[in-house]
Amino acid sequence: MNLKYPLNYIAITEYYRSGVHNGLDLGWNYSYGGPNVDVYASYDGEVVDVRKDYNQTDTTGSSYGNYVRIRHINGFETLYAHLAYNTVTVNVGDIVKQGTKIGNMGATGRADGNHLHYEVFINGVKVNPIDYTYVYKGQITSSNPEATVGLLYLPDIDVPCKEEEELKKKIQELEDKLSLQTKEIESLKEELNNYSNIIFTYNVEKTSLYQIELYEGEELLIRNKS
Ligand SMILES: [Zn+2]
Repeated sequence: MNLKYPLNYIAITEYYRSGVHNGLDLGWNYSYGGPNVDVYASYDGEVVDVRKDYNQTDTTGSSYGNYVRIRHINGFETLYAHLAYNTVTVNVGDIVKQGTKIGNMGATGRADGNHLHYEVFINGVKVNPIDYTYVYKGQITSSNPEATVGLLYLPDIDVPCKEEEELKKKIQELEDKLSLQTKEIESLKEELNNYSNIIFTYNVEKTSLYQIELYEGEELLIRNKS
């Protein structure tokens, strides 16, 4: 499973510790979106749980505040917590793609400040997100080495996916069609060109004698009237 980090600027502020902190906390940076930076789905899936109307920060308890939970393939689920009030853009039942914006970072629920609490589940069990989540091309990682311990980078290879293959096939089909149409256009233009060689037509309605003067370089073409 190549989950993608849900933020385009990646700085881990708290690591996963089984039973103590069952997710990964990700921080923000003024140069890359600030404290309400966009949060994205880490993989294709269906939204199965949402809260968007929580309007406070708690000092006790374990509230997620506003959150989104997404069900993926192979028993995987991801959860994005402490989202800012009224910024969640998805609803239960929505189908999202990897990279679909789902809300904005906030500090709702139990939070010491703005951050994203990110959890990964396999068959309902919380696992260390770092083991399944990758830094994709175009994402920026913190320059603080402590905030990037254990980050996995997506290998620089083309991972084929079904949608990509289908798109490529569709593009090829359209290109083939376009190539045929280009040929047809060329052939029609050639045919048109034959017509443009006919300089004029003249219908004789009364028998008479006509004199035609031709000058150097001029051409007289006569077409049968059909
Ligand atoms: Zn956390």
